[in-house]
Amino acid sequence: MRKKIVAGNWKMNTLLKEGMELARAVEKLEKEKKSDAIVVIAPPFTHLSKVNELISSVRLGAQDCSMHPSGAYTGEVSPGMLKSCGVEYVIIGHSERRSYHRENNRLLHEKVKGSLVEGLKPIYCCGEVLEERESGKLYDVVREQLSVGLGGLSPEEISQVVIAYEPVWAIGTGAVATPDQAQEMHKFIRELLAELFDRGIAERTTILYGGSCKPSNAGELFANPDVDGGLIGGASLKAEDFMAIVNAY
Ligand code: PEP
Repeated sequence: MRKKIVAGNWKMNTLLKEGMELARAVEKLEKEKKSDAIVVIAPPFTHLSKVNELISSVRLGAQDCSMHPSGAYTGEVSPGMLKSCGVEYVIIGHSERRSYHRENNRLLHEKVKGSLVEGLKPIYCCGEVLEERESGKLYDVVREQLSVGLGGLSPEEISQVVIAYEPVWAIGTGAVATPDQAQEMHKFIRELLAELFDRGIAERTTILYGGSCKPSNAGELFANPDVDGGLIGGASLKAEDFMAIVNAY
């Protein structure tokens, strides 16, 4: 049985007090949830320690990490530092990191490795931009992102990784992928995992969908056989909406 996960990526939103209120509200609603999905919240770095004190059922995630374990890297946050704040999951390779910070698949591979060394679970993001979809390159792009980013991991390492398929044209735009588009890519990713690793790993890996997921469309996306939950941006900033997405599972 694959783990179902719904993770909220708060991005650079909420001041500390608001973030703490949001975390408290999510924790409260999580205790009443109807779904068996694991609920993860990924607040900004500055909130992690405080938020960790407020949650017990909800799991803590971070939005990024350094590829380095320690040292003279001003402004960076290492996987070990995240672990020491109670972080369990770390988002790696979000499209905003790839485009605004020019993070490429090789660098992201190092981040994945570094976070695994510390016992964190990477949520590794992939997905095509609109032009790549329209020109039919979407499968090549995702193949490259996954084979470079995750290729060569040991069976123990890959078993800790969660994948998030996030078509870039759907992130924060309101233009959600259709259930068929999501299922097609998730199935492709699972077949690719079977090719890169083995069938057992492919069947056990949790693959999340992300991109304008809301309470109104989550149910039909999650009904797909290869969609194992969601990575939620905007709608994770309201506890009721976020938990309505969780309960749509
Ligand atoms: C995201 O940033 O990971 C995301 C899916 O954003 P949104 O839900 O706002 O499209």
